[in-house]
Order: sequence, then C-alpha cells, then structure tokens
Amino acid sequence: MRVGSSWRWYLSRAMRLALGWCRLCRPKTGGRGRGGQPRPSVGLGELWSYSKLLLKSLYFNSLSNSDTVLDCAFEPVYWIVDNVTRWFGVAFVTLVILLTTSVVVIVYLYVLPTIIGTYAVPWSVWHLCCGHWLLVMVVFHYYKATTTSPGHPPKDNIHIPSVSICKKCVNPKPARTHHCSICNTCILKMDHHCPWLNNCVGHFNHRYFFSFCLYMTLGCIYCSVSSRDMFLEAYGAVESYYQTPPPPYTSTERTAHKSIIFLWVLTSSVAVALGGLTLWHAALICRGETSVERHINRKESKRLKEQGKVFKNPYHHGKMDNWKRLLGVETRKQWFTRVLLPSSHLPTGDGITWDCTFSRRDPMAI
Ligand SMILES: [Zn+2]
Ligand SMILES: [Zn+2]
Repeated sequence: MRVGSSWRWYLSRAMRLALGWCRLCRPKTGGRGRGGQPRPSVGLGELWSYSKLLLKSLYFNSLSNSDTVLDCAFEPVYWIVDNVTRWFGVAFVTLVILLTTSVVVIVYLYVLPTIIGTYAVPWSVWHLCCGHWLLVMVVFHYYKATTTSPGHPPKDNIHIPSVSICKKCVNPKPARTHHCSICNTCILKMDHHCPWLNNCVGHFNHRYFFSFCLYMTLGCIYCSVSSRDMFLEAYGAVESYYQTPPPPYTSTERTAHKSIIFLWVLTSSVAVALGGLTLWHAALICRGETSVERHINRKESKRLKEQGKVFKNPYHHGKMDNWKRLLGVETRKQWFTRVLLPSSHLPTGDGITWDCTFSRRDPMAI
C-alpha cells in the first residue's frame, strides 16, 4: 500500500470508530432503536471497554507486537527523515560539485603555476600527468556513481529466484536485495543510501562508488602534499597581517594566501575522513559483504556462536576473487584498462542470482 493511501485509510477508519463511540455516548432517554424498541442502557464500564477496543482496533492484528506499534508510532518521523534526506541529497551533491570545483580552480590558479615555475621539467610533467589523471578519475566515477541506477528487481517477472517478498513493493526480493526507504524501492545488492551521491549504492554502481572514494582520497592527498609548503608560507603570511605596521600585501596576494589555506585544510580533512571510509569499504569487499550485510552477518555470527556453530558468509569467494567480481576484472590487462582508466563495463553477474560458496541448510538472514 502506498504511504499516501495508507494514511487516508487509517484516517477514515479512525473516523468511523470515533463515530461509533459518539453513538454509544448519546443519551438513551427517549431514544428508540430499530423497530421502535427502547435502546439498551450503556454503563460506564461498557463505555470504557469499548474505548479500549476502539484504541486496540486501530493497530492490533494477529502479527502485532511492540515493534509494530513503535514502527506505526514513528511512521511520521520516518516519513519526514526520508523526505528530508532526499532533499539533503540534492544539497550534498551541489556541495560536492562546488567544493571540488573550488579546489580545482585554486590548484590551476596558484599551485600548478608555482610547481611549473619551481620544479625541473620532469617533475612538472609528472605533476601535470598525475593531477589530471586523478581529476579525470574523480569526475568520471562521481558522475557514473550518481547517474547509474544501482539495479532493481524486475517488477513484471515474479518468477525470479527470490528469498522473500518486500512488504512495501509487494514484489519478490532476490538474495542480497534490500528495500531503501529513501528511494522507496528495492535495491539489488544494496550497500547503503549515500546522501553525497543522492543515490543508493547497489550492484551496478558499487564499483563507481568505491572508485570515486579511492580516487577522491588520492586526489586530496595529492593536493594536500603538493600544497603543504605553500600552506605553511600562506599561514605565516596571514598571521603577520595583524602586526603593526601591517605587511604590504596586495589584495590579490591576500586572496591567494586564504585560498591556499582553504585548499590545504579542506583536502587534508577530506583525505582523512574519506580515507577512513574507503578503508572500511575495502575491508568489507575483502570479506564479500555489503554495509547492510555487515550488520546482519554480525548478528547471525553471534546467534550461531551461542549454538556452538560457526557462521560462513556464502558470498565470500576469497579476497582476490571478491575484488575481481566487484571490479569486473578477468585478465591482467583489465586491471589497467578497467581500474586505472575510466571504464563503463558492467560488474560480474546480474545482481539477482548469486553463486554461493556453499549451500546452507538453515536460511541465512537476508
Ligand atoms: Zn521494496
Ligand atoms: Zn536509496
């Protein structure tokens, strides 16, 4: 049931029950039921029990438990969070584009001219090649990660290998598929919903997401290291602004100092934060898990440990094989053409059927 229609249904149901309650409260004196019979008297006890019944009927069914009640109570909060996150996504993507553009402009205006004017030709050429390669990789993977659909189970084919039915989409859910409440649809091999991409990370854009994180971290490290000396110089200059008499810096020089400080602080902070995230995702890929599965598998390991059993992830094919499957690499040459250069090739598999490393008797939590 769609959110809008379910709310209307609950509202009409509540109104109908409230109407019944009002009828029950109506004074009985002189009142006559159907066929001219006097209406039976209503006591306070009966009114109280009917009120309780009315309240319970709003949320009770045979599957009700405290979790369901809490979920219902927090439904408006979830709705607000989901919609706000969707709008935040647009703001976050704009922020990423603006900050990246500002860094590139500062590098072109101040850092590269200084490098070319200071270093020998081979070093300058190396800087130009390395800087531009990183820029191309960052832009390409960010564009692909935001615009590539993560993949959804087919809506018109119910005969796909599935492990459950999505309660919200009312559609079969293949293994590793999860429902994203922000995108309001099921995502194949869902990793997480990324507000910085305003898109879900799933089977078809997982590689783009990881490559973007990796190349953005490398790009930030490159900018931070390359501009370190200029940052120290600019920082010293800015501190001297407040001396008396003030140093004779022109407004252009002052802008350059502030831009270099902004560049170094921003790229260093992003390198640390995004570097940590990239390492975390690299560890997950080594284990053959997504972010969602990490939580599920941890719970499952704990549960099985209490029973004296050992949990085995059925989607773990060995570290190297996991990487090859994610990156869509089969030959040695493809490490160069598909990983170190921009490439739009598809990942291994269709995201619906999965090779399992072993068959389990007990169905794993999915
Ligand atoms: Zn769904
Ligand atoms: Zn999503």
